[in-house]
Amino acid sequence: MNRTDQIARLNDHKGVWDLIVIGGGATGLAIALDAATRGYQTVLLEAADFAESTSSKSTKLIHGGVRYLRGGEVSLVHEALHERGRLLKNAPNVVKPIPFIVPAYRWYDRIFYGTGLSLYDMLAGKLGIGKTGHFSLKQTLEETPNINPKGLRGGTYYWDAQFDDARLAIAMAKTAASRGGPVLNHVKVTGLIKENDTVRGVLARDDLGQSEFQLRAKAVINATGVFTDSVRKMDDAAAPEVITPSQGIHIVLDRKFIGSETGIMIPETDDGRVLFAIPWHNRVILGTTDTPGVSVELEPRPLKEEIDYLINHAARYLSEAPIHTDIKATFAGLRPLVSPPKNEKGKTSKISRKHSLFVSDSGLITMTGGKWTTCRSMAEAAIDRAIDLGKLEPARCQTYSMRLLDEAPGPALAESDPSLSEPLDEDLPYTYADIAAAVREEQAETLDDALSRRTRCRLLDEIASMRCAPKVAEFMAREKGKDQKWIDDQLIEFSSKVEPST
Ligand SMILES: Cc1cc2nc3c(=O)[nH]c(=O)nc-3n(C[C@H](O)[C@H](O)[C@H](O)COP(=O)(O)OP(=O)(O)OC[C@H]3O[C@@H](n4cnc5c(N)ncnc54)[C@H](O)[C@@H]3O)c2cc1C
Repeated sequence: MNRTDQIARLNDHKGVWDLIVIGGGATGLAIALDAATRGYQTVLLEAADFAESTSSKSTKLIHGGVRYLRGGEVSLVHEALHERGRLLKNAPNVVKPIPFIVPAYRWYDRIFYGTGLSLYDMLAGKLGIGKTGHFSLKQTLEETPNINPKGLRGGTYYWDAQFDDARLAIAMAKTAASRGGPVLNHVKVTGLIKENDTVRGVLARDDLGQSEFQLRAKAVINATGVFTDSVRKMDDAAAPEVITPSQGIHIVLDRKFIGSETGIMIPETDDGRVLFAIPWHNRVILGTTDTPGVSVELEPRPLKEEIDYLINHAARYLSEAPIHTDIKATFAGLRPLVSPPKNEKGKTSKISRKHSLFVSDSGLITMTGGKWTTCRSMAEAAIDRAIDLGKLEPARCQTYSMRLLDEAPGPALAESDPSLSEPLDEDLPYTYADIAAAVREEQAETLDDALSRRTRCRLLDEIASMRCAPKVAEFMAREKGKDQKWIDDQLIEFSSKVEPST
């Protein structure tokens, strides 16, 4: 998935595309993958990097969402659990089963959560991962050694799946590109082309090559997450806003704060949310929050009160509790929640995570809301609709069971070229081979693309990422034939995104 090839495919194409997808997060990439594998000539354009917005800042769970059961959203949980089963098979290198403990501090907790989680297992049907069970106090402490033992009576044990979100995005992009593509990052859609009041294409600008494109298509799909309304307004300046963004943050800690490979799930915090402590890439991620009233940005910042909330809750449930200086990294994402009707406004944590599909009078298709877990089925619904609207030759969805190109190419490159096997930093689990492969095969165009999403350095350790950034920028410049100015610009840009949390 080399960018020069992708641009060449775009330029070489004569005539009208079947589909243009705007946005390269989970939703847009899943849509492009679905379309390309059905045989449609498809272009995906992403203004920043693949998954740079919300899709690289999730809790990293491919799950049914235990808490939605409490809200009675059984069909949403059922669908998500089936998608979980599919993703475990389709992308086994990046989506993996993970056990969780729900600690029981009240006598009825084990009965209550045991019943709910058994229903959760049942809804997964044949695609279930493992059985829910009860743990004694001793077993709970063995499984999660750092859990606060004060008042603990035992726990409920269940299985879910976790993933590396940005790596799954790249796997989907590479698979879509292998079926025709092109999929391009750093190309922003700046306007829509209309003929007879019908959307017939897009105007786009390549922010790296400084070129402009006019692309025509039979159908155009807006998959821009929290930016959905800005594209809807390109179509109709008076289009009502449908997105209510809600911010969620995570803090990243040393793995000693969990001390095992089992995650901890706290089903109900003060604001009615679930709190997760999850082992991930040899660290622990703790989250999340649900903060309404935030502005729409590509790189939202965690608020101090969100960090305090997570630190305070960690202190209740962990016996060795983290303090602010233990935080290795933070990341914040914006949920693209679809606004409830005007008279039903309430807490954003109560807004449904189900997706919404809109078609404007001029035929612009918008797919938004939903979850990473359900992006495949969202894509299927969007393409089924696009077939009707764009009068495309009908073709059946191919993504139910389809092995994605989900293997990270760095380790194989390090083996074939040991000179690249040097680690980026003693505190980071990546080598220069990971960066080289990202540049050569995965469209890592900026230092931040390489350190935040092809590798996950920035999310694992902000200080170590800043420490290795100058050498990585020089290495990337050599790979890409760039000059000192490029290196300086990349370092300024990267450091503006990293705010060491300690
Ligand atoms: C804190 C948090 C935790 C979450 N945890 C989970 C979880 O554990 N599991 C789960 O299943 N889901 C989770 N979710 C939900 C999930 O992350 C989102 O539903 C999903 O990432 C949304 O993807 P998207 O593609 O719709 O939006 P985005 O990821 O925001 O992608 C939209 C893209 O459109 C691009 N774009 C915008 N305007 C233009 C333009 N004009 N031209 C071209 N491109 C443009 C943007 O740059 C962006 O990359 C979580 C969400 C949050 C916030």
